[in-house]
Amino acid sequence: MEFEESVLKAPILAENLKPRAPIVTIMGHVDHGKTSLLDVIRQTNVIAGEAGGITQAIGAYHVHINGRDIVFLDTPGHEAFTAMRARGAQVTDIVVLVVAADDGVMGQTVEAINHSKVAGVPIIVAINKIDKPGADPEKIKQALTEHGLLSEQWGGETIFCEVSAKKKTGIEELLELILLQADVMELKADPDLSARGVIIEAKLDRGRGPVATVLIQQGTLRTGDAFVCKTEFGRVRAIINDQGRRVKEAKPSMPVEVIGFSNVPQTGAEFFCVEDEKKARNIAEHSIRKAREKELSASSKITLEQLYQKIKEGVKDLNVIIKADVQGSIEAISDALHKLSTEDVQLKSIHSSTGAISETDVMLASASNAIIIGFNVRPDARVIEIAQQEGVEIKLYDIIYNVIADVRAAMEGLLEPEYKEVVLGRAEVRELFKVPKIGIIAGCHVTDGKIVRSAGIKLVRDSIVIFDGKMLSLRRFKDDAKEVLADFDCGIGIEGFNDIHVGDVIEAYITERLERKL
Ligand code: GDP
Repeated sequence: MEFEESVLKAPILAENLKPRAPIVTIMGHVDHGKTSLLDVIRQTNVIAGEAGGITQAIGAYHVHINGRDIVFLDTPGHEAFTAMRARGAQVTDIVVLVVAADDGVMGQTVEAINHSKVAGVPIIVAINKIDKPGADPEKIKQALTEHGLLSEQWGGETIFCEVSAKKKTGIEELLELILLQADVMELKADPDLSARGVIIEAKLDRGRGPVATVLIQQGTLRTGDAFVCKTEFGRVRAIINDQGRRVKEAKPSMPVEVIGFSNVPQTGAEFFCVEDEKKARNIAEHSIRKAREKELSASSKITLEQLYQKIKEGVKDLNVIIKADVQGSIEAISDALHKLSTEDVQLKSIHSSTGAISETDVMLASASNAIIIGFNVRPDARVIEIAQQEGVEIKLYDIIYNVIADVRAAMEGLLEPEYKEVVLGRAEVRELFKVPKIGIIAGCHVTDGKIVRSAGIKLVRDSIVIFDGKMLSLRRFKDDAKEVLADFDCGIGIEGFNDIHVGDVIEAYITERLERKL
């Protein structure tokens, strides 16, 4: 039996649409006040004397203001936002970017802006901590113009609001501005369809079994409805709202806890109701088969090697995330890539920053179908694993010319057989020994793979490649070794390099020739 989800779900007709509440995610740099702001907004509900009083932690809550609702997702930050997008779910309508007035635009502020931009979600800036003596809101507005957020006051489109989560000032104004932005966006949904939504939180509850918070996006969810959620299914046994109350139904934009799942569903998974439980089970089983097939087939994510083919198939953009050891390299690479753009294909740097390639970078690449270019930086083992799971390509370089040459060749379908560095193993430096006439020997513990005497080595410190070269010696106890396997200790000397620190990682690699797969 073949199920096409689009056939199962009734089409959304413009004439049936009714206004719905906006869904907001709060983002910003650490310590700028995201959690504090979420808390005071949550309290406005109580102060306003809304029925129900204290909100329950179900992953999202709504506040009532001027006779309307606003829904806040309870997990602040761009990491959760992008992880959801990578799962295929975009639930946020508006991002509130919190910037502390006494601190300014920081790394995660810029990340939050870039993550929101590629998702096409409008940003409202909340300048927080204006109660602080050193607060300088104008300076922040100025700094944000460099990141494309120009205040309305200066002819731009970005709404700014000055708040203090501590003194509870400016909060209502912020809520009103959110409603204003929602009006511009004309957010609507059809409450008369059968319900569909997205899982924003899920857990196994001791007493209640699998419980998930569903954010309803279309239709009305009712007790007794049969539903499918990817590979899980069930029947709604109870609906509980964000005030901990059992309710009979939930309308669009409302976050509710649903009890009645067969198993704990995945966050970000789509949820939709069908006629009956039998049908729900059939569809879920079908999804399990499909998921297995997909695991077996190649990933659909873009790679540099496939770029030419994709351009021929009509792909117009190549999204790139650039990570480098220094800002100068980022600028050089991003300028050069920008110049390579042609009518057929636009190269877009959707995010760039100095430092190691992180899990968040990989999720952003996955959500935005981007490749990651790492220049003189390295992802750690966990990041590599996630990139493989997500099918995200990470290209590592140490010469700018090679980055440009590769991308140009890929665009022209002329990517030469590639020499790829294959990491054989890693060893962590635990001790240092000074050996007369020879230099520094690093006492190492092989953490994964193996260290091979004939291999090349890279010395990695805080995820940055410090040195690339050869080994002078590889020893186990007093004997020269050809290779040392994981979990063993060894001594490594590096040719022409003595500036080794405890905690550095020595990576052994070989260079393999790859055939072009065009
Ligand atoms: P988050 O990391 O962005 O979630 O930031 P938090 O909400 O945890 O806040 C970080 C620190 O800033 C805490 O010590 C808060 O008490 C403080 N803080 C938050 N908002 C304000 C504010 O409006 N004014 C002042 N003075 N301090 C604030």
